[in-house]
Amino acid sequence: MSLYPILWAADHAPVRDAEERAILIALVIKGDFDGCNCFRSYKTLAEKARVDAKTAGRRCREMEARGLIKRQEEYRSKAWLAIPEEQRPVIWEAMIPAEWWSAAQLADINDQRAGLGRSPLTPKIRPALAPAPPKKTRTDKGSKRPKKDVPSEAPGTTSPGGGQGTDSPHPQDYKSGPPGLVVPQPSESPSESPSENNRAVADAVGKSAGGCARADECDAAADETGKAEGGSAASGTALPTQRKKSPRPPTTKTRPRKESTGFEMVRAAIPAAVAAPGTRLFPGLHRAINDLLGGAPGIPRRTPEQVIARLNRRWYGENAEDRAAADYRGCERCTASGCEAPRRDLENPDGCDRIRNRNSWLAAALLAQDCSDPGCEDGQIIGGGECRACRDRAVERREIARSAAEAAARWEAEIKARQAVQGVADAWTRREAAETDRYRRVLGEAGVWGTKLDHQVGQHMDGWREKNPRPAAPAARGGREGQAAVGA
Ligand SMILES: [Zn+2]
Ligand SMILES: [Zn+2]
Repeated sequence: MSLYPILWAADHAPVRDAEERAILIALVIKGDFDGCNCFRSYKTLAEKARVDAKTAGRRCREMEARGLIKRQEEYRSKAWLAIPEEQRPVIWEAMIPAEWWSAAQLADINDQRAGLGRSPLTPKIRPALAPAPPKKTRTDKGSKRPKKDVPSEAPGTTSPGGGQGTDSPHPQDYKSGPPGLVVPQPSESPSESPSENNRAVADAVGKSAGGCARADECDAAADETGKAEGGSAASGTALPTQRKKSPRPPTTKTRPRKESTGFEMVRAAIPAAVAAPGTRLFPGLHRAINDLLGGAPGIPRRTPEQVIARLNRRWYGENAEDRAAADYRGCERCTASGCEAPRRDLENPDGCDRIRNRNSWLAAALLAQDCSDPGCEDGQIIGGGECRACRDRAVERREIARSAAEAAARWEAEIKARQAVQGVADAWTRREAAETDRYRRVLGEAGVWGTKLDHQVGQHMDGWREKNPRPAAPAARGGREGQAAVGA
């Protein structure tokens, strides 16, 4: 679950009425941060939106016809594939227009999409949507939405978290106010200023979007929200459109981020290949550093030194520089411009390990936690002592290493013993051959030849073997040594 799609569905999507809104919210709650992968059975949708299943299906198709949602043909999630084939619901993509986000937010979204192998969202694939048709009578169905009525505004300033703060992000919602448009206000939020609401949301969204890139990871959270949102949407309170220009002065274009102490120190340690010194970091990376420095749900606070150590360990320790290079080939589908093959991860060890986006890779790598204890930094619990889990793992590893070393030593000793036995056997074979040769020569010089010679040599060697018994040989002996001895 991610808050952007919910915010869009709740406040900005051109839905026809409260029923549609409730269905749309119930749908996007289970989807991804970018509006993709929204799938729920019509039965569940109906339950959440308090309508009957047939209505849920019909309303979805109506929203599809108006372009609010689209049947998603790509990006089949694991959660969806896990559903028995005959029960799989339609996967909808909430068509949140690209222009709805600010430039910075869209960059962040596309950054995350890149990390998931999805193409960037553009105004072409996520066009602006026509305003909602009036309730019941839908005379203007299919008509194009008029061009933005504030042409002076730069892209991004009309979006929810853009930070301009002077105006509603979506003028058409209240200036033109299509008849019958219902704008339910979250009851827990007294503020009428969307920019204020949205700024809080924008920060929270980033966090949840990172962790909830896959819908299946966030089921529990989504369910809770589902209830809350369903309730508020289902109540369908039609409030008068009373948004006014915010009295607050305009904020600067750069997003006002609260930077944790030590941020600059960590910033200076970011490899130049990721971000040139002095440039602004990508939002996802910025946030990852802030989360580590300032602490976040499930992420204990770390010192700048610890964050830098972590950064270096991951970036240099995992050979990221090379893996992000244009000439790196992690699989046969890698090209200079990128790679569309599935990524390598724990579930897919044969995937490609090419780093397609240094920023999102580093952000994810910084937040990755190899120890099950979130407060563990290389075996030391932050603000505490040694990590028990790490110590237990280390003991286990040492135990395994010790057993392995013992086994190796045993094996080595065994090989040496076999070699020794073999050496004795080989020496005997050489002496036997030498004696045969010597005796044959003695008899030959004495004029003995042919069958008689062979017979006498055989008799002599039988006596020799009685005095020199053949040692036990561990392996079959080749005849090479014997031949060599004959020639000597
Ligand atoms: Zn590849
Ligand atoms: Zn640990």
